Amino acid sequence: MRPVYLDANATTPVDPDVLATMLPFFTEHFGNPSSPHGFGAVVAAAVKRARGQLQSLLGAESDQEIIFTSGGTESDTTAILSALATQEGRNELIVSAVEHPAVLALAQDLAKRAGVVVHVIPVDGRGRLDIDAYEKVLGRQTALVSIMWANNETGTIFPVERLAAMAHEAGALFHTDAVQAVGKIAMDLQSGAIDMLSLSGHKLHGPKGIGALYVRRGVPFQPLIRGGRQERGRRSGTENVPAIVGLGKAAELAAFHLYDEQTRVRELRDHLEAGVLAAIDKCIVTGDVDNRLPNTSNIAFDGVEGEAIVHLLSRDGVAVSSGSACSSGGMDASHVIRAMRLPFTAAHGAVRFSLSRDNEKADVDRLIEIFPDIIEELRAVSPFWRKARQPAKPQERLYA
Ligand SMILES: *Cc1c(COP(=O)(O)O)cnc(C)c1O
Repeated sequence: MRPVYLDANATTPVDPDVLATMLPFFTEHFGNPSSPHGFGAVVAAAVKRARGQLQSLLGAESDQEIIFTSGGTESDTTAILSALATQEGRNELIVSAVEHPAVLALAQDLAKRAGVVVHVIPVDGRGRLDIDAYEKVLGRQTALVSIMWANNETGTIFPVERLAAMAHEAGALFHTDAVQAVGKIAMDLQSGAIDMLSLSGHKLHGPKGIGALYVRRGVPFQPLIRGGRQERGRRSGTENVPAIVGLGKAAELAAFHLYDEQTRVRELRDHLEAGVLAAIDKCIVTGDVDNRLPNTSNIAFDGVEGEAIVHLLSRDGVAVSSGSACSSGGMDASHVIRAMRLPFTAAHGAVRFSLSRDNEKADVDRLIEIFPDIIEELRAVSPFWRKARQPAKPQERLYA
């Protein structure tokens, strides 16, 4: 039986058309885009085309607003450090509690440094940002707000345009980690207020190790990596040309497939969710179900470990993910799930199903076919499950 991949938010395969576009740039078109001769010129033109393809997907005003980087993590890091360096007299950073580690780990490190203050804004039980808490800390000291467009674990979409407008009123810059949103949601940055935006190739059927940072024209910028002044001095190092060309093609294809993502993939996701909820008791969909990515479903199963679910599904050829991380005391629910304050026994059973245009109905049907037995198998040996079955426990109220 062919393996079933339901982990597209972790990474996606390179689209065959993307690969075909890349291949000549390893061999025939190997020139350095900075070279003044013909070998360089043909490659420089290809890099420019890729920049235009990204500009078009994002609805940016100019292709010069696109800087190629090594991926989402570098783009996030560049944006945050740039804003803190350029926003004179402002030393505060605002992030949400559910950011990707690319933002959160940097924010935690910056908080330990003298002179930088970090505010972490909580979310509610549905994963929505606490707007009042945000408004309260936003002020004359805020250098940058960095809040993701869509969460990678629950798919919850944040009102980034509104948050950006609020940041501007306080004179602060606004960055968004849009790694999960690009290619799944239509964007028109030129008519909005977002100053900087991160994206990554491998989350949208492009290659790994390539990404981009959008920096709106006129926004002050300081490079993370200095050197030979590639990317107009904003990101030095000889360009990863095959990957850049591949990312450009992936962006073009993402625009083409956006409708499929919003319709067929969304229906597949809804079919998966309905099937799982109908077959298994004591489980809930986490995150903002009314406002989330079309491809993502995060479901918390009471009385089982998400990590155990992932392993048993993997045994049967189905790939999903749990955000849990190993810690000294055992398994920790992910920071995203913990931030939503789910009851303990549900939080530990959170599993993420994330689809892409590569999935078919047969994939979802296969999951629904094997999943109830797996949950039953795990619950039969789970002390949490037996405990959760005792009457009048507070967590029961969640399912009322
Ligand atoms: C995957 C991901 C990243 C990291 O991107 P890389 O290209 O793997 O460095 C950052 N933010 C979010 C939301 C992601 O899903």
